[in-house]
Amino acid sequence: MQIAIDGPAGSGKSTIAKLVANKLGFIYCDTGAMYRTATVMALRLGLALGDEAAIMAHLKDLAITFKPTPDGQQVFMDGEDVTLAIREPETTNNVSQVSALPAVREEMVRRQREIAATSDIVMDGRDIGTTVLPDAEVKIFMIASVAARAQRRHKENVAKGIMTPVTTLEEEIATRDHKDSTRSVSPLKKAADAIEIDSTQMTIDEEVAEILKLVAAKVQ
Ligand code: C5P
Repeated sequence: MQIAIDGPAGSGKSTIAKLVANKLGFIYCDTGAMYRTATVMALRLGLALGDEAAIMAHLKDLAITFKPTPDGQQVFMDGEDVTLAIREPETTNNVSQVSALPAVREEMVRRQREIAATSDIVMDGRDIGTTVLPDAEVKIFMIASVAARAQRRHKENVAKGIMTPVTTLEEEIATRDHKDSTRSVSPLKKAADAIEIDSTQMTIDEEVAEILKLVAAKVQ
């Protein structure tokens, strides 16, 4: 079974996707982490973020791998642990530029489909239900107010020692939403057959329960 969870930055997708995958014994794939790793690579190499050819020349052979751990998932770039580097503000504020490059998306979508072919999966991102896994049995589109999303990101950041003010996070989230929704190749968009969940007033447990209910209805 394939479960696609899409939505804007900070809508709680990855927290929920991870928990749903654990409950069901499915693998979890965080596609945002893949675009973030490509961004770390480009920044480290000093590549112009709009230079698709240069980025692709390096990205083609870059290994991006995941390792599940009890507190989440570690992300590796050519074997180096980049779990923290991919969440740095510099990465976050530049990722939308890299993810808008059509060749980068093509490469990532190909890798994501390969991962999905190996197992039952919960995959989260922006274009999973529309582009990566259009036949996913369950498609969720998660939304939440910008204020609620900035508060959540702030809490996560503080736990990691990143001290960006909430107002800055609100601006960053709104900017990233705009860039991700208006890019020409597979923009952030609710699939016609996706179910929208507004998590602004919901607890994590309630969101997970809601999705598990939808999964149960599918397997009956
Ligand atoms: O989900 P997360 O916030 O980590 O995603 C980081 C960025 O990666 C997004 O802002 C978006 O630019 C890009 N992304 C994407 N398509 C996906 C997942 C993420 O374009 N499927």
